[in-house]
Amino acid sequence: MNTRLFTALSLVVLLGFVALTLFNAVRERQRIRSFIADHELPAIGMAVSANLDRTAAKYQQVGHELLRGDFLRDWIFGGEEDEEELRAFLEGIRARHGMMDAGIVSDRSETYYGTDGRTVGMSRDNWERDGWYYLYRETMPEANIDTWYFPETGRIGMWVNVSIRDADGSFLGITGGGVEATEFSRVLHSYGELPGINVFLARSDGQLVYASNRNLLKRPGCIDDVSTVAITEEVDGTEGIAGRRFMPDGPTGSLLWARYSKPWDTFIVIEKTGDIVNERIREMSIRTLVGGGVLTASLYALTLTVILAARKRIASQTRKLETIAGEDALTGLYNRLSFTEYVEREVSLIRRSGGQSCVALLDLDYFKNVNDTYGHPTGDAVLQAVAGVIRSELRDTDIPARFGGEEFAVLLPSTSIDGAAHLAERIRRAVAAGFGPFPELPALPTLTISIGVTSLIADDSGPDSAYHRADDALYRAKRNGRDRVECGV
Ligand code: GH3
Ligand code: MG
Ligand code: MG
Repeated sequence: MNTRLFTALSLVVLLGFVALTLFNAVRERQRIRSFIADHELPAIGMAVSANLDRTAAKYQQVGHELLRGDFLRDWIFGGEEDEEELRAFLEGIRARHGMMDAGIVSDRSETYYGTDGRTVGMSRDNWERDGWYYLYRETMPEANIDTWYFPETGRIGMWVNVSIRDADGSFLGITGGGVEATEFSRVLHSYGELPGINVFLARSDGQLVYASNRNLLKRPGCIDDVSTVAITEEVDGTEGIAGRRFMPDGPTGSLLWARYSKPWDTFIVIEKTGDIVNERIREMSIRTLVGGGVLTASLYALTLTVILAARKRIASQTRKLETIAGEDALTGLYNRLSFTEYVEREVSLIRRSGGQSCVALLDLDYFKNVNDTYGHPTGDAVLQAVAGVIRSELRDTDIPARFGGEEFAVLLPSTSIDGAAHLAERIRRAVAAGFGPFPELPALPTLTISIGVTSLIADDSGPDSAYHRADDALYRAKRNGRDRVECGV
């Protein structure tokens, strides 16, 4: 397998694992968001909602107490004259139910009378103070419960309001009492203190009556002003109640749950803030990425090992095939094994029928320097070029071989020692003259070759003695200064 293909393949495998890990992290992110939106927030919302309904039901009866006996109706019909009598009536009920205060608003005179001793003219212009009354009048429920939060004490008060009507049902005003909802306050506060959780209560006109983040209540605010809570539009809510639609996703990446409580005329909104949601996602993503990263690294290492092992096997098979084919893979010359067979055959031929043949051993001078300076691949290219030079100087019947490393050998059948020396000299000169430009070799110093030549003789029992003589001659050539041809007999 060539190196580029191998690199590309392993890169594809690595990228595949990375993509898989990222895909998992993205899915994890969606899973966390839907878990918060579908389970966490509804669980808190339903708990608050149930508590609200329970509290509402408990105080609903206070309204009925106030209407009992038609005292209030008669007092309004009577011209709203005896305030002392009214206050005594209200005070009686207030004390009996442990309420904070009790009062009425007469629709005819638009006046508020309360047990706190106040008699106040109501006005639409003072919406902040009196809006609750006009809102009641516009929507005209049989009863409603107003919530009011006291940021100074952290307590939540609730006002139960019911309609005062005459015998034929026309509207005379409302009466109500304020109770302190201690238990409910505690529930709201404790949910609001959960990390990243905000609890809001808002009237149907948008007036914010409670926010667990008290800063939002420093001044009476509208739910629309709470920037983290996303409201798409005002819509007609179910059952004719003006409502608001809350987006499930807040603008800052927060998640919302909202529900309208009819007996309370109140929206309950639970928010999980964007920073906490994102932190949870970040934590989870890091865990997924680290886990995935370790898995990726292990799988990649495993894949790499398998590929490398396969590569090694292929290389060794190739070497075996080369041996069988008798050819040297790098230079295309004969390899040492098949060369030796040719020499053996030539030796036995000479022993039988005489004749003259020669063998030359060729060794590049200081070849190690080429590798050290330009790297092994360049060294290989030089070996191929030298093989080309050798081949170009030979006759068809000559046998050139790569003997091993940077050593070459040539069998020259029917050649005298003089002829062989002559040929060797031609090769030496051709190598020393250089062999064309090498793009990889910016300034290749002159490469030279040393050659030892010997003739095959009838006494040779096989190739080894001939190699030995040629090697001796080669050694002499090296010792005598390299870049030369020496003959040995
Ligand atoms: P000299 O023969 O002149 O004494 O010096 P040299 O540096 O050629 O001698 P040596 O025998 O010590 O080093 C031979 C070097 O040939 C060692 C090795 O780096 C290199 N060599 C052997 N086989 C190959 C090969 O297949 N490819 C490459 N590029 N280099 C090879
Ligand atoms: Mg050598
Ligand atoms: Mg050498």
